[in-house]
Amino acid sequence: MKILNIAGRLWMDDGQGFVDVAQASDGRFGSDPQAVFDLWPQFRAWARSSCPVGAATRPPGPLGSPVPRPGQMFAVGFNYADHADELGDRSPARPVVFPKLPSCVSGPADLVPLNGSQIDWEVELVVVMGARARNVAASDAWRHVAGLTVGQDISDRAEQFEGDTPQYSLAKSLPGFGCLGPWMVTPDDVANPDDLAITCSLNGETVQSSRTAKLIFGVGDLIEFISARVPLFPGDVIFTGTPSGVGLSRRPPRFLGPDDVLTGTIEGIGELQTRFQAAPERTPA
Ligand code: ZN
Repeated sequence: MKILNIAGRLWMDDGQGFVDVAQASDGRFGSDPQAVFDLWPQFRAWARSSCPVGAATRPPGPLGSPVPRPGQMFAVGFNYADHADELGDRSPARPVVFPKLPSCVSGPADLVPLNGSQIDWEVELVVVMGARARNVAASDAWRHVAGLTVGQDISDRAEQFEGDTPQYSLAKSLPGFGCLGPWMVTPDDVANPDDLAITCSLNGETVQSSRTAKLIFGVGDLIEFISARVPLFPGDVIFTGTPSGVGLSRRPPRFLGPDDVLTGTIEGIGELQTRFQAAPERTPA
């Protein structure tokens, strides 16, 4: 089943056409795409048993982030060995987790402002929580997941590496830098949620290509690690890390410009296209 944010309203598609959830459920579930995660088990039960067939076969409006306002958003660094290598770091012995601020979420229809000249891409498998998770074992983790989506963990490398200590959270949380979409897919709808082909292309040229089975810490490990430290809540988001091929590690380095089209694709989920716009000049203080 796909969960979509179409023009700010919650829609779903179980393969039989798009359904406006608030209308089809007579208001039992509201139109806010973020609110559904608080009622996820009830929504799943309704969607399985009572959801009518939809009429539209294409989204009848612009797509927004399927998770527009996550309460918490985490990201994971160095989680593919080839990406740790390209940055000159060893693979970590435990997950490197940092917050990505929820204010940076953007959807497929949004233009991401380019505030500088070293803005980089990172395609990532993104997990959306469907239940509260606290001290959850890796083997039990998928039961707490609502779905999966494609993410771009956009990063300002100048901001990230300017000081003596890397500045992860802020450099990856500028407006629009958390691109999510084009929709969320429930884990039962993908063949093997722990092994999906993941690619990123820039203007049609493949720049990243891997499989999520190569994650050093998989979805279960990450939920176990994070939930042992802080609670996870329905609608929270985890960016699981990026494979090699980011712009910073290319020779010469390559960064995003206003005419670029970035396409992240994950097997069984979909294709997230991201477009950019030049940010207005900063006025001197
Ligand atoms: Zn990342």
